[in-house]
Amino acid sequence: MIGEPLTSSLLGMDREETAALVSEAGEPAYRAKQIMDAVYRQRVESLAEISTLPQEFRERLVKSGVTVGAARIENKFVSSDGTVRYLIAFADGQSVETVWMPEGDGGEAGDGSEAGAEAEGSNISTSGAKARSEESEHIAALKRCATQNPTKKDRSVQDRVRQGRSTICISSQVGCAVDCQFCLTALLGVKRNLTAGEIVGQVCAVLKDQKVSPPEDRINLVFMGMGEPFLNYENFVKAGRLLVECVGIAERRMTVSTAGIVPRIRDFGGEAIRPKLAISLNASNDALRTRLMPLNKKWNLEMLIGAARDFPLRTREWITFEYVLLGGVNDEPDNAKEVADLLRGLRCKVNLIALNPGPGIDFATPSEERVTTFQKILRDAGIPAFVRRPRGRDIYAACGQLKRTVEIATSPGHALQVLSPAPKS
Ligand code: SAH
Repeated sequence: MIGEPLTSSLLGMDREETAALVSEAGEPAYRAKQIMDAVYRQRVESLAEISTLPQEFRERLVKSGVTVGAARIENKFVSSDGTVRYLIAFADGQSVETVWMPEGDGGEAGDGSEAGAEAEGSNISTSGAKARSEESEHIAALKRCATQNPTKKDRSVQDRVRQGRSTICISSQVGCAVDCQFCLTALLGVKRNLTAGEIVGQVCAVLKDQKVSPPEDRINLVFMGMGEPFLNYENFVKAGRLLVECVGIAERRMTVSTAGIVPRIRDFGGEAIRPKLAISLNASNDALRTRLMPLNKKWNLEMLIGAARDFPLRTREWITFEYVLLGGVNDEPDNAKEVADLLRGLRCKVNLIALNPGPGIDFATPSEERVTTFQKILRDAGIPAFVRRPRGRDIYAACGQLKRTVEIATSPGHALQVLSPAPKS
């Protein structure tokens, strides 16, 4: 008999947990690899699909309450710029949003990944022979453990993805507790943490829907959707590990963004497997930051920048600071100078994001000229600064716009019923 599984969902189990499940069931050890291949590489949605396992074993698993735990795509909105916003539902009916940005600088110009630097032609780009050889080693390692690549794709998707510009933006919590004043997700409050399986499940669902498969297809991943990953730390770290080890996304292609949970930034630096770090700065002094991001009362700029200075960066790695520009609030030339002073000497870059507007958000999007001036001041002070293009604004998929829209879009008579579900393929 199979004892109490550590969790009833296969998705989210690491090697040790899957091995324990298999051994408790009295099955040979190689079954663990078959299960993991099926779940993370073939991305099956039910036990019935795991044809490498004997029928009798599958039935026993079902009887003991084990499921794959795959995430379900409940709705899909396609932007005119190609961005796709997915509404992804879990077993208890809760849902989050996950965004697919197929090309251009989508996400990665703003996410601190190497592909982004390539896209920007940045002088902090570190691509080259070494990076490529690391990537081939990574592919070889995965090939050793994977049995098949399930996806067939047409040439154009494949080519685009191979350029390494596609990015998936995933959520870490249902809602968010951080209460940033310019963010739509904050209006929801936090409903619950996602499990590691639910975080990885978003990626699997999108990869399957887009018919792409890392590591052969180069995918970037950003933990920048709904929620604060560092307030769901354990699950987030485990998900990151599973995404690297089992799904095949390279560490250097993943970035996590935090509002500034300082003790967790310090913990994160000590993780053996971890994405790159991005910090949402959004203000140039404590008074302003506390007004925009109340968590600054608890972890002020001195503590935050101190943690960034102590952060153990790997070779060819830098920290990304995100700065949402709010017209007339934090976008003055003096703010830019303060930011330059704060960040001087740090191995970092700044991504500037003009506010993505939304109902209930009482701030204005600054003019392009203001954004460019801000960028120039930073660059003149020697800080690499990039302007991040908004992706999928028309479908409320851009930064800070996630979740609220489904409720808005479905409430009758609301002005925001501009959203149209994607045609079923
Ligand atoms: N909680 C994490 C990750 C989610 S927010 C964090 O705070 O970093 C991802 C990014 O979107 C953050 O940099 C945040 O500052 C930015 N953001 C939030 N609301 C926004 C808005 N309305 N317009 C543009 N960017 C926004």
